[in-house]
Amino acid sequence: MNDSFAARWQALHLDRPCSAKLLAVSKGHPAASLRCVAKFGQRDFGESRLQEALAKQKELVDLKLRWHFIGRLQSNKVRPVVKAFDVIHSVDSLPLAERVSRIALEEARKPEVLLQVKLRPDPNKGGLSADELSAIWSDLQALPGLRISGLMTMAPLHMAVQQRKALFSDCRALADQLALAECSMGMSMDWQEAANAGSTWLRIGSALFGPRLVSTEAAN
Ligand SMILES: *Cc1c(COP(=O)(O)O)cnc(C)c1O
Repeated sequence: MNDSFAARWQALHLDRPCSAKLLAVSKGHPAASLRCVAKFGQRDFGESRLQEALAKQKELVDLKLRWHFIGRLQSNKVRPVVKAFDVIHSVDSLPLAERVSRIALEEARKPEVLLQVKLRPDPNKGGLSADELSAIWSDLQALPGLRISGLMTMAPLHMAVQQRKALFSDCRALADQLALAECSMGMSMDWQEAANAGSTWLRIGSALFGPRLVSTEAAN
């Protein structure tokens, strides 16, 4: 099991530009697999389900990992997510951002937040359009309880390669326009394109851990 992790780990590092950090998306994988990957020096792990993540965090508390929440964030889960995660990639509305900020202040936390954007029509995904984002940008920036560091996006399923490249470039350009450093884009199937377009967080699950054992549908 360790050997296959090592091989996949190496493949992911061969032609990855150093600007693109690797977020190990560990949903659907047991704590033991995260421990294997942590042995290679991986510190950042992404989870999309709160209960599943909390159980692993408890088991791996000795490792001092950094936890990223990448799933759809329901308003009733904001408090436990703010308490248990260092980075939230999936804030996709002003009311949700306001709630995260308020609760973060109450909990004496200041989470790093990426705003989820949807730059192409996609019925399966949430996210702010570029226009919606610019309309609320000054309100978002004024929120005292969070540090907005970047944008997150996902390509619609089955999008052609050229269109995906254009989408990733658009997301990078929008982040640059807002002076945001981070761009969370690219998954197992399209991370090279995203990395070349200026992604700073590649969210990689199956290309690192293999097929998911437990079915956890991307909740967004
Ligand atoms: C599951 C998931 C990923 C990783 O998917 P893979 O195809 O296994 O790399 C990335 N981002 C989000 C939001 C996810 O839910």
